[in-house]
Amino acid sequence: MVKKGRGRDNAELLALTPEEIEEVWDRIHKNRIAGELLTGEEGFYMEVTRMPPNMTRKLNCGAASAVISIDANGDVYPCHLLMEERFRAGNLRKNSFWRIYTTSPILHEIRSITVDKKPKCCKCPLKYFCGGGCMADAYYITGSLLDAPPLCRMSRKWMWRMIWGQLDISDNDIKEFESTL
Ligand code: SF4
Repeated sequence: MVKKGRGRDNAELLALTPEEIEEVWDRIHKNRIAGELLTGEEGFYMEVTRMPPNMTRKLNCGAASAVISIDANGDVYPCHLLMEERFRAGNLRKNSFWRIYTTSPILHEIRSITVDKKPKCCKCPLKYFCGGGCMADAYYITGSLLDAPPLCRMSRKWMWRMIWGQLDISDNDIKEFESTL
């Protein structure tokens, strides 16, 4: 859940903390390893274990390039979570989609934010698998698109498991890994 709009107003009531999400994912992972069928949770599992196709480098979350959002008035935004005035790229009643997509300064700016430009992510050994996570998720917490998102630690944990098969990774392993960032 992204802490935006009504989500932000009701975050205390509705949002799981990163630690709680991690715990849920750990449970799903363990049950899956044990061979249980997790109907309904499969989608979540697929989402968290998504890797870049064909092992290509993942440079960002895809906002403003693979993803675009258009509201009912024809306003164009970099993604469905960044639908605020400062991110408005143009309007389809005034310009063609192609023109907005190729010439909008804000779309260009967001597209140019890659893991290599994010202060924390650029040092992360998993950066090209992760792509730096959801920019909007970070933005609504810290106010910056360049920060690592709140689920960064969990991302590292699941990627570590997938890539090196370390199924029993401990908190100490994670701490040691984090100290390198
Ligand atoms: S795991 Fe965290 S630090 Fe590494 S690239 Fe992803 S968001 Fe950035």
